[in-house]
Amino acid sequence: MLDSASKALFHLLAQNTTLKSLSSRFAMQRRASFVHRFVPGETVDAAIRAARVLEANGLTETFDHLGEGVTTLDEAVAATRDYLAVVRAIMEAGVERNISLKLTQLGLDVDRASAVDNLRKILELAEPAGFFVRIDMESSRYTEVTLEIFETLWQQGSRQIGVVLQSDLRRSESDVQRINALGARIRLVKGAYREPKSVAYPKKTDVDAAYARMMKFLITDGHYPAIATHDPAMIELARQWAKEHNVAADRFEFQMLYGIRRDLQAMLVASGYRVRVYVPFGRDWFPYFMRRLGEHPANVGFVMRGIFSEGG
Ligand SMILES: Cc1cc2nc3c(=O)[nH]c(=O)nc-3n(C[C@H](O)[C@H](O)[C@H](O)COP(=O)(O)OP(=O)(O)OC[C@H]3O[C@@H](n4cnc5c(N)ncnc54)[C@H](O)[C@@H]3O)c2cc1C
Repeated sequence: MLDSASKALFHLLAQNTTLKSLSSRFAMQRRASFVHRFVPGETVDAAIRAARVLEANGLTETFDHLGEGVTTLDEAVAATRDYLAVVRAIMEAGVERNISLKLTQLGLDVDRASAVDNLRKILELAEPAGFFVRIDMESSRYTEVTLEIFETLWQQGSRQIGVVLQSDLRRSESDVQRINALGARIRLVKGAYREPKSVAYPKKTDVDAAYARMMKFLITDGHYPAIATHDPAMIELARQWAKEHNVAADRFEFQMLYGIRRDLQAMLVASGYRVRVYVPFGRDWFPYFMRRLGEHPANVGFVMRGIFSEGG
């Protein structure tokens, strides 16, 4: 109950444009800002610095230049230009070549063909340079179109791309079969968006059970799947399942978000597993940050303590 109520509240806040512009002006300017726990900074240089620390500790990363829901083609073109600059900066820095992006950041809400063109421009630079490009999954409004675009690019020869499926959506078990049949890499998550009961399981126990079923399938039959969760029970189940089915630790990877369950990230690396950390950065951090608060009410306490200890 608390889960869905807090998710709902923070989703409303995430969409509030006044809060969004106020927050991006103030919160990140403070060096010790509470936002930094989840978002290392606004610039690619800040993200690369964070990535170097992760790599020094045996982790890998995927970079996400934050942005979503652009409403004009000019904004989509600017977001694409920014992403191309990010790709070049990552190449120059010599860190892991792996990025995550959202189709609504590239203009999907404005014009589907333009969003695909924008994505192609990024792939044209990134793929030959050895990048892996993950298309994040947004709310259920975008599931079908995201998968269709992914399939088109795959059919046209892109192979260093992957997609995300959410266990809270009823359709995902069949989508897992559909995307896995291509031979593509799937990142499995529980789902960060507030969804109607008609398309999503309202009970967390059902979301978790669906996650466990898809995770088991992907570990034994998937193509280097990403088990993206901070849930210790699910992580333990993944390890057990892989062991019982003789799936080596390098045939899949765990993924977690920057700043969340760093203890688990370190424990998995120490136990010989691959762990990739999602490193979000950029000025448009507010909706991402609100989703993190909404999925874990204890974070609100963390933020409140941060605000008071920073004197404001
Ligand atoms: C690498 C990565 C990429 C993702 N990409 C997408 C995507 O493309 N689309 C999408 O819809 N969702 C995405 N998500 C978010 C995902 O859908 C969940 O909302 C999020 O991971 C929380 O679910 P959980 O699996 O960690 O488990 P939960 O059952 O929600 O949480 C299990 C435990 O993890 C810890 N935890 C979870 N969330 C937090 C938090 N915010 N702060 C502190 N502790 C926390 C707590 O200890 C909690 O008890 C991604 C997540 C990861 C890790």
